[in-house]
Order: sequence, then C-alpha cells, then structure tokens
Amino acid sequence: MGAVNLLGFDLDGLAAFVEGLGEKRFRAQQLFRWLHQKGESDFGRMSNLARSLRDKLADAAIVQAPALLSEQASADGTIKWLFDVGQGNAVETVFIPEDDRGTLCISSQAGCAVGCRFCSTGHQGFSRNLEVAEIVGQLWFAERRLRERLALPEGERAISNVVMMGMGEPLQNYGALVPALRVMLDDHGYGLSRRRVTVSTSGVVPMIDRLRTDCPVALAVSLHAPNDALRSALVPLNRKYPLAELMQACVRYLQAAPRDFITLEYCMLHEVNDTPDLARQLVRLVQVLEPGVPALRCKLNLIPFNPFPESGLKRSSSARVAAFAEILREAGIVTTVRKTRGDDIAAACGQLAGEVQDRTQVQQRMRREPIRIHAVPAGGLQ
Ligand code: SAH
Ligand code: SF4
Repeated sequence: MGAVNLLGFDLDGLAAFVEGLGEKRFRAQQLFRWLHQKGESDFGRMSNLARSLRDKLADAAIVQAPALLSEQASADGTIKWLFDVGQGNAVETVFIPEDDRGTLCISSQAGCAVGCRFCSTGHQGFSRNLEVAEIVGQLWFAERRLRERLALPEGERAISNVVMMGMGEPLQNYGALVPALRVMLDDHGYGLSRRRVTVSTSGVVPMIDRLRTDCPVALAVSLHAPNDALRSALVPLNRKYPLAELMQACVRYLQAAPRDFITLEYCMLHEVNDTPDLARQLVRLVQVLEPGVPALRCKLNLIPFNPFPESGLKRSSSARVAAFAEILREAGIVTTVRKTRGDDIAAACGQLAGEVQDRTQVQQRMRREPIRIHAVPAGGLQ
C-alpha cells in the first residue's frame, strides 16, 4: 500500500487513520495542528508526538501539496500559483491581499463541466474532480509560502479568508468539498470562521440544500442574468435548475447561513446582460419571489467581465456598470462593483485556465452552439 497523504483528512478522518496505526485518537489533534497550524511536513520535527508514532507516520504517511509549476506576482500584490495535478492537468490558486484581509481563491476541479460562456475555465472543458488533499493542499502550500515570502512572525496567518472561486464548480465535487471545508473551519486546523469561507456556485440546487445542513458557510451564487432564457444561454446549468428553484434554494439556505444575506455575482457583459431593463428585472427577481416566499436578502456583486481570447464577449463600460448598479441601489439592494485584481498575470475572475485535458468535448459543443444572446428582445424575456 502506498503512503497516505495526510492533507486529505479532516480531523475525524485523521483520528480514524491514527487509530488504524494502533494509537489513541486524541493524538490526531496534535498531528493536525502540526500540519495545518505550523505547516510542518516533516514528522521527525513534530516534537510533542511520541517517537513510536513519528516512526509509524514516516512509514505510512506523507504530507504533500500538489507540485508547484509556477508562481507569478502581480504589480498589485496578487500572487498566482499553478499546480500540476497529473496527467497533463494543472490548476490555479490566487492570493489577493487587501488592507484588512488576505483572501485565497482555491480551485475545486481540473476544468469545469458547467461550461459558462464567459468563463475561461468553462471553455477548457472538464477533466476531473480534485481530491481533498489537492484542495486542502492549495491552502496548506499558500499559507506556508506566504509566511515565508512576507516573513510573518510565528503564529501569524497570511490567509484570513477563503473563497471557492477558482477553477471548477465546487458543488459538483461535493464529496471532497465538505471535508476540505471542515479542515479550513477546524479550530485545530485553519480556524477560519464560517463567514470567512465562501462557496461560490453556478447554482447546483440540491447541493445548496445539502451544504446548508452539512457545512453552512457563506454562499455566493453566480447569477449573471435575471431571466431563464438569458441565464440558460450564459450558464447552461440553468436548464436543469431554473431561476425560480435557485432563488428558493437561496432563501432556504439563509436559515442556516452564517451571514444574513447571499451574495449574488453578476458578470457584466457588454450589451448582453447589462441593460437598464435587465437591472429592473433583477430587482423584481430578488424582491418578488412566489407568494408565501419572502424576498431574498442578498447583496449584488457586479464583476466587470475579464476578457480572454476565445470568448467573443466584451466587458461592459464603467458607465454602463454604474448605471446598472444605480438601478439596483435605488431599489434598496446593496450593490458593489468588484475591483479587478491580478489581471496583468491573468489571475482575475474567470481568467484561470490552468491546463485541462478535456474529457467532455465541451470545446466542440461551445463551437457548435453559438450564443444567441442577441435574440433577447428589447423588453427582455420573462
Ligand atoms: N464555479 C463557481 C466558482 C468559480 S467561478 C461559480 O461559477 O460560481 C468564480 C466567479 O467568477 C463566478 O462568479 C464566475 O461567474 C466569475 N467569472 C467567470 N468567468 C469570468 C470572467 N471571464 N470575468 C469575470 N468573472 C468571471
Ligand atoms: Fe464553471 Fe464557474 Fe466557470 Fe461556470 S463560471 S464554467 S461554473 S468555473
């Protein structure tokens, strides 16, 4: 049997593993702290572990993040890492420093099967789900590397927030996502509060419901359109889980969410989804749900489209974004416009491309089905 990668375990999983080595379960807590609080990978240096356990670990286990292929730093302080996840696939992880926080944007899949029109990852197709160790490994590596780069004093953390907004649809890799989230939240792990860990989804309704019960962290829903016709053209998953169902899942999620709102992301595409009429539809969408269903408490986050060569789409001008935002704000919806970070190193939202050995023919499908957004009538679609 090959050595087991300990980055693939949440604390319960690690306890079971340690027990399997004939040790007491509580030893796992000390080991978990070494791994995730100190970022230690050498069992020999885990000084408060019994010699016998260290020897057993050296035989049976490893601590290994995915192999680093490259590191790029942007002029604005953003850092992007490219990791090799085998068989010609590579994924990206991005660190975004701000005055009061350091956010790590983590990938959940090599590629993505959802195939959104405006997303570089989506255009590359899908290869495979990342394993728990590959998801946690991005955080483990980045925290260690940043402490070294920033020369942080012992015990101080570089990463205060995690967003599952890298490559992939996290709710289509649910089995690995939840243990990875538990490692992030665990007080003996990264100790992040639920409010500081965000899962971003294109709207996998049944999994939003499961996350609500299994591990309710902050939720961001990638909306991009206020009606089904346009949303299905941009986010193909909408055909399976249309807007009415998605909105209701968001309302249900709020019962357990660590924040009292859901973030709705809206990628601003020039003359596609950025008209004043669509802004008014969006207001109606979140304020007038079905009878008996309360309006959705939400914040709108407008993301100026980050272009990439094959998309054929254009970024909305800042005047159009401002006009769109104004309509939402006038209706009482808190609206922010996301600052683009790291675009000089292609690390901005939707530019993460990594390297994906597509196994789904997404690329051919996209070429066959030209986007018919121009067919949207001036009055919009309902
Ligand atoms: N699959 C998840 C999380 C990864 S995408 C999701 O779709 O939510 C993270 C965010 O980046 C999403 O809101 C997505 O819509 C946005 N995004 C994708 N491509 C983009 C682009 N080219 N420009 C700006 N934002 C983009
Ligand atoms: Fe996948 Fe999200 Fe990109 Fe859509 S926007 S293709 S769901 S990663």
